[in-house]
Amino acid sequence: MEKRVSDKRLIEVFARVGSAYATAEEVGISRNAVRERLIRLGIPRKKMTDRSVPPDCHPDRENFSVGMCKRCYMREYQRIYYTTDKSRDNYYRTKYGISYQDYLNMQMRQNNRCAICGKLSPTKRLAADHDREIQREYGVTVVRGLLCTQCNQSVIGGVEYSDEVMRNAIKYMQKIIRLRKKYKEKAIG
Ligand SMILES: [Zn+2]
Ligand SMILES: [Zn+2]
Repeated sequence: MEKRVSDKRLIEVFARVGSAYATAEEVGISRNAVRERLIRLGIPRKKMTDRSVPPDCHPDRENFSVGMCKRCYMREYQRIYYTTDKSRDNYYRTKYGISYQDYLNMQMRQNNRCAICGKLSPTKRLAADHDREIQREYGVTVVRGLLCTQCNQSVIGGVEYSDEVMRNAIKYMQKIIRLRKKYKEKAIG
């Protein structure tokens, strides 16, 4: 497993040594990991380029940024920044008022399992289940938890659920009741 290095330390080392290669050497993590992290941290590419060192990917080309040629860098940037985190972040913020990181934290707390039936969702993303009543009454979007498609679409149609699954459903619904009570009290008080 790779060493854990904080963002702060990565930026500090990078600012001092001036290239992704030297940063990788010093902090003891791979060049690829350093690149991914620096791109993700939004370090201006001009600042992270040591043009005297040829890029790893295509040594015959110019080092455009973090040890990659222009083409490879742009592809990586698109892949890491736009096609994943940024667009997802936009989606969750617009639709549910949470960041993508909030979603991931929630997913981690639920061990990547549906909050009702407990099924793992290896291929499909768990749906963010929000409270429509709170939204309607108080104009706030509150994500109650993450659910599989089936539970998300048929929470009340629970005839197929085992006792254990229904107990989970009760716990979940009690949480909804507490959540609504909290907002009701807030609205009154
Ligand atoms: Zn390249
Ligand atoms: Zn489920």
